[in-house]
Amino acid sequence: MTPGDGLREGVPLGHSVAAHVIHGWCSHCGGPGRSVAHEVEAWRVWAHRMLLAVEEGARGGG
Ligand SMILES: [Zn+2]
Repeated sequence: MTPGDGLREGVPLGHSVAAHVIHGWCSHCGGPGRSVAHEVEAWRVWAHRMLLAVEEGARGGG
């Protein structure tokens, strides 16, 4: 167990964690319409969420 393992929960090794968190899949999963572009989009959404989470933490939650 290493810190951050929870983040990878259900995400196959080598797959995009952000894409799985946001979409539930990534370009490595294959399938129609699952392109790297979607993965990049997921990273942007995911990064935004992380930023909000950090800001929430900085405010001391609620
Ligand atoms: Zn995947």
